[in-house]
Amino acid sequence: MSENKKAEKIVGVKGMNDILPADAPLWELFENTVQSVLKSYGFQQIRTPIVEPTALFARGLGAVTDIVEKEMYSFVDSMNGDPLTLRPESTAGVVRAVLEHNLTYDGPKRLWYAGPMFRHEKPQRGRYRQFHQVGAEALGFAGPDIDAELIMLCQRLWDDLGLQDIRLELNSIGNADERNRHRADLVAYFEQHKDLLDADAQRRLHSNPLRILDTKNPVMQEMVNAAPKLLDYLGEESRAHFEGVQKILRHNSIPFTINTRLVRGMDYYNRTVFEWVTDQLGSQGTVCGGGRYDPLVEMFGGKPTPACGFAIGVERLLELMKANGEQFAPNQCDVYVVHQGEAAQLQAFVVAERLRDAGLDVVLNCASVSGGGSFKSQMKRADASGASFAVIIGDDEVAKGVANVKAMRAENVEHNQTEVPFESVPDYLIAQITCGDECNDPNHHHHH
Ligand code: ATP
Ligand code: MG
Repeated sequence: MSENKKAEKIVGVKGMNDILPADAPLWELFENTVQSVLKSYGFQQIRTPIVEPTALFARGLGAVTDIVEKEMYSFVDSMNGDPLTLRPESTAGVVRAVLEHNLTYDGPKRLWYAGPMFRHEKPQRGRYRQFHQVGAEALGFAGPDIDAELIMLCQRLWDDLGLQDIRLELNSIGNADERNRHRADLVAYFEQHKDLLDADAQRRLHSNPLRILDTKNPVMQEMVNAAPKLLDYLGEESRAHFEGVQKILRHNSIPFTINTRLVRGMDYYNRTVFEWVTDQLGSQGTVCGGGRYDPLVEMFGGKPTPACGFAIGVERLLELMKANGEQFAPNQCDVYVVHQGEAAQLQAFVVAERLRDAGLDVVLNCASVSGGGSFKSQMKRADASGASFAVIIGDDEVAKGVANVKAMRAENVEHNQTEVPFESVPDYLIAQITCGDECNDPNHHHHH
């Protein structure tokens, strides 16, 4: 290849991002926190395929939603002609799997998932074509208690992540009958103000007028604010359910505001809808959306099963964590092993393995295109790795049966460089690393 013309570079797909090593610690921190919070509420993980039959979304999400209208990555399997779609969200897949495996046979289930989703949108800050969601779905729970629990779980997650500027907006969109009665009045109202409707709103006027309430168009705000409110159309049961959610939230001091214009993109939602919103991310400020979707399981051919869930937009949440100055140690390892000469290399492998046995993260210097590198260039790599210690092995050390252990960080320089017998290096380093730390658990000294 190198003798020929340089090959043309292939670049990634627009709107689909690489998550680079520099960001990995932040993703890990987020994922670990999410996992432990979900576990603390008894949620169990479910992993469904990224590709599903197109009909799953066409039927599940409703034909007039943004997603089904224009955002799906759909294609035909060239091997067998099956219409397939990269999942734009996970609720439909989770419900499909629950039915396929009859997971609710022995009672209600609390489930969660995490992974990439795909929507063909215009890429911009906080809006990508491949993005990630973490979500929870509670299936088989009918009362307002689970709605409140899901919301409180989110609040705990923000708290554990140290995020403060996220507020909760809450609404109820009732049931289909209530929405139909409201819809008639809403369409009549919008028709009275037709001159103010933008192209998007005109298009939705008869297909999905509720979504017009969602508009960000400044020209329409005043008119939309005065539109008939779905809350005023709720019957006794829907109202009681909504009251029930609010009562639990108030009792647990979870602040919220009721946003009568809050609706969800997906058709299958009913009753409780909520969003967690921040002002720190510009116009893509919704970091989590959720609500109840009682009709969905039956729409998929299952027994009537009430359900409630939410989905967090991970990229937006991570951007918020960064905006809040979330610090993370980019250290690649605890120890970097430097060596020179054939005998030293063999010894270095053994020492590195014993250090890993002791629970330390170890990078062993390995040859690059230009070889293993001089002692000096290896020390540079050791420095760049963020290691607290370098273990140095050359011909002299092999002859003496010792390694030179060098402290790399300012706080350790008092024990700057010491000869340590090969077999004692793990004990020596564990003692050095843990004594400089408040944490006494040798397995956790480097993960905080
Ligand atoms: P929006 O109105 O912003 O398009 P949505 O109603 O389509 O949001 P949901 O389908 O409810 O969003 O998804 C839940 C969360 O996933 C959103 O609140 C957001 O944080 C995140 N999200 C949705 N679409 C994207 C995207 N294209 N890129 C990044 N994050 C997204
Ligand atoms: Mg959307």
